[in-house]
Parts: sequence; structure tokens; C-alpha cells
Amino acid sequence: MSNTDNGRRNLLKGSVAGASLLALGGTAAFLTPSLTYAASLSQSERDAMSPDDVISFLEKGNDRFVNNKPLNHDYKAQKRSSKDGQYPAAVILSCIDSRAPAEIILDTGIGDVFNSRVAGNVSNTDILGSMEFACAVAGAKVVLVLGHTKCGAVKGAIANAKLGNLTSLLDKIKPAIGKTTYLGKRDADNYDFVDAVARTNVMLTLNDIRKNSPTLKNLEKSGSIKLVGAMYDISTGKVEFI
Ligand SMILES: [Zn+2]
Repeated sequence: MSNTDNGRRNLLKGSVAGASLLALGGTAAFLTPSLTYAASLSQSERDAMSPDDVISFLEKGNDRFVNNKPLNHDYKAQKRSSKDGQYPAAVILSCIDSRAPAEIILDTGIGDVFNSRVAGNVSNTDILGSMEFACAVAGAKVVLVLGHTKCGAVKGAIANAKLGNLTSLLDKIKPAIGKTTYLGKRDADNYDFVDAVARTNVMLTLNDIRKNSPTLKNLEKSGSIKLVGAMYDISTGKVEFI
């Protein structure tokens, strides 16, 4: 992992603003370099990572996000370095919730991860097909199902909300309600319960992926990939791998 870190983030960029301040009588403290993340994952960097390395890569990214110290992403350079090919390390299945954008909360750049988003982070055949492409064709090493706290889709499933096509989507979350052990008030207004159901939903989605995608199950069995779940706390910013 250290080689990957060094290889990808090797551009130390002295702050132009800091230099200007120095010229104006500031101190050298202003020249503390900021890491500029100027390239997408290359094939050799991605291929050198184990599934556990990829999980660590995502955990470190979330640590930077939580500490409000994200990499200084040079999106133009990342766009340039990825234009002829992509070598993402993971495929993420996350909710559409505007407060839970996976690439931001995991501090990843262009070309680093595939991201499939659907309310309540449930799987279906199209998503499974996308994940199979990501892992079996494009070489991603991790399937991450990322739920989050205060999920409106989970809340809606508990409340038995009905609305057009949303009804059948929420039906896919409902099995998680009955399978959640919770001794307090089991209703949609209790976010403690909603969060517990969201956590169960992540685990059930992982089970569904294994059950309905022999391709991914076999890749997991061989050790080529790992399927993992996580919960994002929209209050603290922390992603907890479960
Ligand atoms: Zn949600």
C-alpha cells in the first residue's frame, strides 16, 4: 500500500498562496506543502493491491474526510491520466441520498471506484451485471455495500410508504425489518431503529449479491475479491466497516 500511496500522490505542491504570504513577510509555516492527488489509479498500482489493501485505501480516505483533510484533487490531471483506460479498485453500491456521496466521503478521485447508486442500496439484476463487469472484466477487488444513517428509503419501507415505482423498490428493503433484532420502539420515527434496519439491509444485500451472482460469489471464494458492508454516519462523517 505504501508504494501505491507514494506512486499516486507524489506531487508535492508548495502553496502559491503561502509563497506570496512569505514574500509579504509571512513565515515558512505557510509553505507547508499540500498533497496534490494528480493521477488516477494506474493498472499496475491497482493490480498490486490486495482486497484488504483496497479496504484500507477506502478507510484512509474516510479518515481524511472525517478530519477535514481531503487530498487536494487535481481533477483535470485525473481526467487526463484516466482518459485512455480505467482501473478502479472497488465497486460501491450506495444510496442516492444527497448527503452520502461515496466518492467524497471516501476521498477518492476520478477513475478510483465504480459507484452504483439506488435508494436503499439494494441490488437488482442490472446492478449485479454492473458489479460483475466491475470485478470480472475491469478488475475491481472489492464490492462495498454502503448504507447510511437516517436513510429515507429505509424509513419509508418501515412506514410502508406507497408511491408509483418506489413501492416495489421499498419492498426490497422490507425483509430487513423483520430480521432486525431491536427491543425499543420499532417504528419509522425512531431513527435508532431505522439505522438498525439499514445495517441489516446492508448485510441482506450482501447475501443477495452472493446468492444471485455466482460470478461474484466465485471471485470471492477464490480470494480475488472481497464483499464487504459499511455504514456511513451522516452526522459524524464516519464510515464504519461491518
Ligand atoms: Zn438512503
